[in-house]
Amino acid sequence: MTDVLHILGNGDSMGVPRVYCDCEVCTEARTEGLNWRLRSAAYLETETGGLWIDIGPDWASQMEAMGKRSMPIALLTHAHFDHMAGLPEWADCCRWTGEKGILYAPREVLVLVRDRYPWLENQLIYREADGGTHFGEWTITTRKVCHGKNGYSYAYRFEKPGFAFVYCPDAINLGEEEKAFLRGLDLLVLGTSYYKEEFDFHTRSVYDMTEALELAEEIKPRRIYFTHMSHGVDVRTAYPLPDHASLTARGMRIPLSI
Ligand SMILES: [Zn+2]
Ligand SMILES: [Zn+2]
Repeated sequence: MTDVLHILGNGDSMGVPRVYCDCEVCTEARTEGLNWRLRSAAYLETETGGLWIDIGPDWASQMEAMGKRSMPIALLTHAHFDHMAGLPEWADCCRWTGEKGILYAPREVLVLVRDRYPWLENQLIYREADGGTHFGEWTITTRKVCHGKNGYSYAYRFEKPGFAFVYCPDAINLGEEEKAFLRGLDLLVLGTSYYKEEFDFHTRSVYDMTEALELAEEIKPRRIYFTHMSHGVDVRTAYPLPDHASLTARGMRIPLSI
């Protein structure tokens, strides 16, 4: 069996539709639903089990969509609402089932999680992921990345013989050392809120697709998939993307083999 990365959500922090918004994309998301995007999260499926990446506010819907009744182990990219707001619900599930969950995150992210939700450690076991970890055959390494005006996030690099990928939903303006972490990839899953984001660069926190394609020119992943997309992205638009670049879709399964 080939391991698979499932895209459980590919929306930005507010998802699509945005509650307050009547734009064309949000309206389409409410009616037809092509642009309906849950908050960004992923699931690595292997023969020996699965690993969740990020636990946002849409966590319960994402579990239902997968038909999963429990989540034994998860990895957190950073302590922003859209990536961790499902933690209390996960912990509650663990309380009901009596099986503790294991949460991997960098030390400084765990400090913020403890501060925000001080009661979760009754049900969740925290493990520091700064030095990386392993999951089945995968070696996972951790890298702090620039998240623009929103501070920092982390990216995770997954490697096993014959395949390497990085999951990096929230990043912008990466320096040379951060880019080095993204070299030699078969697959890069990168957050891009817009095709072209017009706001001032210093107010921004996530790449747009045009910048991501420039980045891809430099680091040359075999494939690049865009996630964390706002209501500024309309999947009905034929964006000028090269063959190796695509938008993710909710429920997409990306095989982790060449
Ligand atoms: Zn985010
Ligand atoms: Zn963020």
